[in-house]
Amino acid sequence: MNKSLSLASIAFILSASIHAETSSSAQSRGLSATEMDIVAHVDRNNPAALVLLEKIVNINSGTTNQPGVRAVGQMFAAEFQSLGFTTEWVDGSSFNRAGHLIASRGSKGPRILLIGHLDTVFEPNNPFQKYEVVSEGAVKGPGITDMKGGDVIILKALTALDQAGVLDTMSVKVILTGDEERRGSPLEAATRRLIEAGRWADIALGFEDGDGNPDTAVISRRGAISWQLAVTGRPAHSSQIFVAGYGDGAIFETARILNEFRVALAGEENLTLNPGILVGGTSAAIDASTATGSAFGKNNVIPETTLVEGDLRAVSPAQLIRAQKIMTVIVAKNLAETGATISFSPGYPPMAPSPANKQLLARYSRASLDLGFGEVQAVNPRSAGAADISFVAQYVGMALDGLGLMGSGGHTVNEVADIGTLSTQTKRAALLLFRLGNPRLTVER
Ligand SMILES: [Zn+2]
Repeated sequence: MNKSLSLASIAFILSASIHAETSSSAQSRGLSATEMDIVAHVDRNNPAALVLLEKIVNINSGTTNQPGVRAVGQMFAAEFQSLGFTTEWVDGSSFNRAGHLIASRGSKGPRILLIGHLDTVFEPNNPFQKYEVVSEGAVKGPGITDMKGGDVIILKALTALDQAGVLDTMSVKVILTGDEERRGSPLEAATRRLIEAGRWADIALGFEDGDGNPDTAVISRRGAISWQLAVTGRPAHSSQIFVAGYGDGAIFETARILNEFRVALAGEENLTLNPGILVGGTSAAIDASTATGSAFGKNNVIPETTLVEGDLRAVSPAQLIRAQKIMTVIVAKNLAETGATISFSPGYPPMAPSPANKQLLARYSRASLDLGFGEVQAVNPRSAGAADISFVAQYVGMALDGLGLMGSGGHTVNEVADIGTLSTQTKRAALLLFRLGNPRLTVER
């Protein structure tokens, strides 16, 4: 099936869904026998899903812990193989990361890409390492919602479809990247296979945790780029600071720049800017590969160097460019005897809130309502970080993210999953997939 034919099948899915809404609106909402069978399989598999989730959360897969990322990848590879998927490990040595897992199955029906990631922000030196039940329904764990829970939901939704005998009506590709939290470099090499999968697919579904609320999903994401600020001052005895010819030193100049960034940009809607690491003194260095920094300095010496790295997120390319211009102007207004340069690195493109994405969300919401789980609405893009789906959104007919395990505290040691959403999110995903793969059945309901 070529891409134009398969895009025609999307048009069919969308029109079928509209008919289904009309014809069933007077009938009682509910599930077909096949759909009820899918749901029953999800329930039956849920204990095994929890066991798998605990196991993989307890394997450290901080992005730079390559053996850990590979170990989680191997566990998923075995699981997907048992569902009849062909798996491939994409070696990440060319971009200094562990790599990605790609699992593919089927050649008929709409081409659906399911997106997850194997890595977490918690490196082996982080104190937060283990799965821990904190109370009924609440489980703490590094990467549990971002996004090992989402990866398990992908697997278990497909498992239920396989068990119900309906997995063959769609072509499925799963990509679990190994560097979503800290993208490998060069970026082009790190994202090549993800983009390739996006070019293949008609529909992309992402299983990030969105804003942690099961009543929302993501049809639009802000893009994110990173920036590096390097500031210099004139080294001298501290007694001479502010004196003509000695100046203000690198650290005061850095404070000025960062504060002016905040004042100029903090109020802008849908834009954020965050300095993530700062080191300064007589000498300073940041090791990008481990996200650590070091500095040497003395109280009685005017600091000579400061380094800061941060991110910048915006909802449109124009907003991103405007912010970069403002930052560049601020950086150039140096205090006495100091200098500063800023550079920007390419990052994640914005995912635009297209009409097709809105229709896919409506399909997902319909599935949720039919399951008795309530309506799902679009999340505020401000509450959705950049994610892998941003790289493919521009190539697919429609895209939806935030379908993963829900909870709170992502990227902190208080990352806690609302563990009851493991089965509900799996049911929603399985039902959406089934209906996307079987538009004719959906019409007949
Ligand atoms: Zn994530």
